[in-house]
Amino acid sequence: MEARHWKPLDDKKVECGLCAHRCGITNGRTGICEVRKNKDGKLETTTYGVVSSMGPDPIEKKPLNHFMPGTRAFSFGSIGCNFRCDFCQNFSISQQYTKRGVKQVSPVEVPLLAQQYDCQSISWTYNEPTIWYEFTLEGCIQAHKARIATSYVTNGYMTEEALRELAPHLDAMNIDVKAFTDDFYKKFSKSKLQPVLDTCMLANELGIHIELVMLLIPGRNDAPDEIKKFSQWVLNDLSPDTPVHFSAFHPDYKVLDIDRTPTKLLDKAHGIAKDAGLRFVYMGNVPHRDEENTYCPDCGQLAIKRMGYYIMKMKHDDGKCTNCGASLNLVIDPFK
Ligand code: SF4
Repeated sequence: MEARHWKPLDDKKVECGLCAHRCGITNGRTGICEVRKNKDGKLETTTYGVVSSMGPDPIEKKPLNHFMPGTRAFSFGSIGCNFRCDFCQNFSISQQYTKRGVKQVSPVEVPLLAQQYDCQSISWTYNEPTIWYEFTLEGCIQAHKARIATSYVTNGYMTEEALRELAPHLDAMNIDVKAFTDDFYKKFSKSKLQPVLDTCMLANELGIHIELVMLLIPGRNDAPDEIKKFSQWVLNDLSPDTPVHFSAFHPDYKVLDIDRTPTKLLDKAHGIAKDAGLRFVYMGNVPHRDEENTYCPDCGQLAIKRMGYYIMKMKHDDGKCTNCGASLNLVIDPFK
């Protein structure tokens, strides 16, 4: 099927405008993501409706702690990625480029599956959703028709034009900020930092609920000065209320020689972000810590007690603290 967001160049070459790579693709070849192909001077998507994994998850697993807390998200993933992170924590799906074992799903089935599994939202996750944009866009439109909310779990490399088109149909984004240096992005992900920051700022401006995740990899992106700069950027260019998750790395894919992130390193990052003035900071992949709970940033009252991906207790008044009335930046009903 013909792709969206591309333009023809000379000699049947095309330029894809879906992500910041803006691949120039010659006839018969694919872009970096390997799922968008130039066929006779037209760009086609080769993974429309191609689902490699799907199923219900707690929304907290995305992780989204402030978006419809305590509800379930029906999750869809396809194949491929536009990044080549050597530390990928999900490589069996995201670095898979064959269609072995996949299922074909139509957009109208998207909300039906969510309803069948008692899910209040759908989530495009497991692999990078941007690269099967056409299907995720149509799936989001169908979901909204059924009053099912929508979210993207993404590396944030989408172009401005693609995000502006998707935004009216997208309620939340969990965006990976993999590091706060361009060197890291170039060296370990074969990409650039600035487009990711631009996506975060545009999504925020367009009114999409965003939460950020930084996977802390010992020795690569954990310098206190880098965490401080990242936190100050969130504070100044996004909002002090933007939830930030520091997540623990485990050795995987091509990086087997770096140990799992020690908890003390996550503690340090958490402290730096709080000291910078961020109001909702979490730790990921280390369950049963106080830092998985949501506290009112003004009076300190416990609002949401979690155990891993599960809510043990929730106390708020339409997203506000029941003690002092401060906003907890919770999206309870995105259709309100
Ligand atoms: S979506 Fe794929 S083809 Fe398009 S610019 Fe990104 S990597 Fe290249």
